[in-house]
Amino acid sequence: MADSVVYDRYILARHLRELGVEPGDVLVVHSSFRAVGPVEGGPTALILALMDAVGPEGTLVMPSMTDRDDELFDPKRTPCRHLGIVPDTFWRMPGVLRSDSPHSFAAYGPHAARITAPHRPDFPHGPDSPVGRVCDLDGKVLLLGVDHTENTTVHLAEALAGVPYRVPKYCTVLRDGLPVRVDFGEIDHCCRNFALVGEWLNRRGLERRGEVGSARARLVRARDVVATVVEELRDDPLRFLCPRGAGCSSCDEAWASVG
Ligand SMILES: [Zn+2]
Repeated sequence: MADSVVYDRYILARHLRELGVEPGDVLVVHSSFRAVGPVEGGPTALILALMDAVGPEGTLVMPSMTDRDDELFDPKRTPCRHLGIVPDTFWRMPGVLRSDSPHSFAAYGPHAARITAPHRPDFPHGPDSPVGRVCDLDGKVLLLGVDHTENTTVHLAEALAGVPYRVPKYCTVLRDGLPVRVDFGEIDHCCRNFALVGEWLNRRGLERRGEVGSARARLVRARDVVATVVEELRDDPLRFLCPRGAGCSSCDEAWASVG
């Protein structure tokens, strides 16, 4: 066994600055806490390090959606454990705002209210969604121990690239005091090929790579993700899908919607 290293808030904040996180950044974070390694103070200390790195002028953003299509979303109660311990800790922290949507995001800082303002339940990651608003604000995406398969901004980019596939989904929202089922077509598939986005960005010199704690970390401007994906999908808008009939049921569902 190697010597066990324990990171603290201050070391992690330094790593984040070295990676390129700057004061005033609007930063969307997708993370694997396990990949970061042992942190003194746990996930809360990692979140405080992220807050330190963007500073009081910066805004921290994390996904906060439910994985229960059939349950009413309650921004004060509904957990998001499937996204990991960091996002499920973040929305519970004092001062953090959480959008009231099954496709919720949570945010802290000067732009938090704008980012978490009401958004359409039937177009989860479109231009007027939390990730769309982060892009408008020229924000950045930080991938902490995860790759672009977890990067929701790629779905925004697919929408803007005009991909033709829509997979039938539904969610439950409150209308006139009653839970109502909303059916919609979501831009979705297995997302395995989102790993390509890292190569495309790297080739263009647009992705900063480093380490935060023990985690491999990537930092990129949201607008660069969108511009790069739009460019790469121009000739083949179906590029993200696994080959038809290759055994990927999620992608076959997306193919079926194309006809
Ligand atoms: Zn697939």
